Amino acid sequence: MTDQNPVFIPGPTNIPARLLSAMNMQTVDHRAPDFVKLLAPVLEDLKKVFKTKTGTVITFPASGTGGWEAAITNTLSPGDKVLVARYGMFSHRWIDMCQRHNLDVEIIECEWGSGAPADRFEERLAADTNHEIKAVLVTHNETATGVVSDIGAVRQAMDASDHPAMLYVDCVSSLASTDFRMDEWGVDLAVSGSQKGFMLATGMAIVGVSQKALKATETATCTRCFFDFADMGGANAKGGFPYTPPVQLINGLRESLDMLLDEGLENVFARHHRIAEGVRAAVSAWGFELCAKSPDLYSDTVSAIYVPEGFDSDVLTNHAYDAYGVSFGIGLGEMAGRAFRFGHLGSLTDVMALSGLSTIEMAMADLNYPITLGSGVAAAQDYYRASRGLALAKAA
Ligand SMILES: *Cc1c(COP(=O)(O)O)cnc(C)c1O
Repeated sequence: MTDQNPVFIPGPTNIPARLLSAMNMQTVDHRAPDFVKLLAPVLEDLKKVFKTKTGTVITFPASGTGGWEAAITNTLSPGDKVLVARYGMFSHRWIDMCQRHNLDVEIIECEWGSGAPADRFEERLAADTNHEIKAVLVTHNETATGVVSDIGAVRQAMDASDHPAMLYVDCVSSLASTDFRMDEWGVDLAVSGSQKGFMLATGMAIVGVSQKALKATETATCTRCFFDFADMGGANAKGGFPYTPPVQLINGLRESLDMLLDEGLENVFARHHRIAEGVRAAVSAWGFELCAKSPDLYSDTVSAIYVPEGFDSDVLTNHAYDAYGVSFGIGLGEMAGRAFRFGHLGSLTDVMALSGLSTIEMAMADLNYPITLGSGVAAAQDYYRASRGLALAKAA
């Protein structure tokens, strides 16, 4: 299998050559002064990506799921009540993890394809006059359905009900790709990882922690050891880790932060939006539907796309891989067999996106889907030309 084709799975994402080189480094002594010099500015620059000045950033050698476990176990105690809405596979996994940690999980069931229900949170929080609910857990970008939720609206709902619960946000597939404002939205724990917007290999959980969340660690009694914030924070303050740090990944993260901050975060977000709009133009040219129920919910990092009645999306993604060597995301959970996912986050250009669209069109044509070969590609081409001002220049 060639490694020249990009992947269109919504993480891990394509790794730019510059980051591959940065991770390709010889062992250095993590107790030597060089490592101290590397780590502190990385943690500092991560705050810019979370958009926090008052919070702090803690990382662990883990995938994003480890970040969730760290967020929960450091700040909650067994039996604590947490409020979660389930609207996709990732919010579902949060629920499962909380239950396994013996938290008292109250679930608001939502249709898949919808987003975080700020109004229902507000209703529930307002009724909780004894303040039994300790935490509200929200998945910012539900990678299973391609839905982005309005975290600012959730914060407003919490404020409107004057409720002191902490706000936990899974931003694994949104941070460093779409706008995230930890301080402005009053997020207490923001969980991410290295392998999506940061365009690195999997292996670092990256967690933004508010002062309120840090305070909560003093009384939280969930068992934790490897993921202990106090151990990690204490070691970080001295320039190290409580155990062996993943130095190659941290070196990669240094380079990734340089790339993101050089491009400018707002430009990074605009690029993701533009590329996503082109993909959505293709979806609508095919006459297909997105899982996301309305345009305000459309994710700029992943599109979950329903296949027509009578077709199996797993057959499509398998065929695209077997015939053309290109990976797309499969349908997860309720979407299994019904939708495929086109990941458009991380290191991506218009040209790469067009190659993905043209590949999935070939795969669909092979399987007798009711589409015209080139129709989605043409719609995306039109959008990309126009959004760069080039189509207009030619018409003038
Ligand atoms: C990828 C992802 C995760 C974390 O998954 P890991 O495989 O543990 O890194 C969590 N939440 C969302 C929304 C994701 O997209």
